Amino acid sequence: TSASGGKPPLYKIVMLGDSGVGKTSLVARLTNPDRPLNHDISATMGIEFDTQMLDTPQGKVKAQIWDTAGQERFARVLLPTYFRKAKGVILVFDITNVKSFESLSERWMAQLNDHASADDLAKLLVGNKSDLESSREVNKEKVEQFCQEYGMEFLETSAKSGENVLQAFEKLIAIVHDRA
Ligand code: GDP
Ligand code: MG
Repeated sequence: TSASGGKPPLYKIVMLGDSGVGKTSLVARLTNPDRPLNHDISATMGIEFDTQMLDTPQGKVKAQIWDTAGQERFARVLLPTYFRKAKGVILVFDITNVKSFESLSERWMAQLNDHASADDLAKLLVGNKSDLESSREVNKEKVEQFCQEYGMEFLETSAKSGENVLQAFEKLIAIVHDRA
């Protein structure tokens, strides 16, 4: 509603998940779809954010995407800053790394739920690296269980091919709108 006329609303979105799952690559792919995936991207340290205008079915939205370091020792102290005024969270795992999927329930969901505004946040589960289907370690039944348990929707993406990357961010924004 607020997206019609005037300035597009600013939506803060937080990326969560283990180091190496592809959070930085997904944001890079969204903000610059023509940039080829750089295999030398170093693990993110600390906080960074990117801003991207998105033309969604719900109107124009300015997405401010916060990218986190996967390392727990950094994330723990920074989490209150990540979540302040956030509208949505994208929880990312790597479909070729079962440990990164288990980390979501063992670590990231717990940290998220510790936070006061957790109930108000829109959440989306993303299984990245769908281009590496032959190395898949995380089966779809497990993912469905997770989605049912936490009431979350799910998409598989590839930051490498670009598959479903824009769709994932748009889906999260649609969930934000549904909840408003
Ligand atoms: P982050 O630590 O979660 O930010 O992960 P990065 O974005 O730094 O990615 C970690 C590694 O995975 C890098 O070598 C990326 O090039 C690679 N990567 C990220 N996304 C994909 C993907 O969709 N497919 C493939 N094949 N590799 C990817
Ligand atoms: Mg990173």
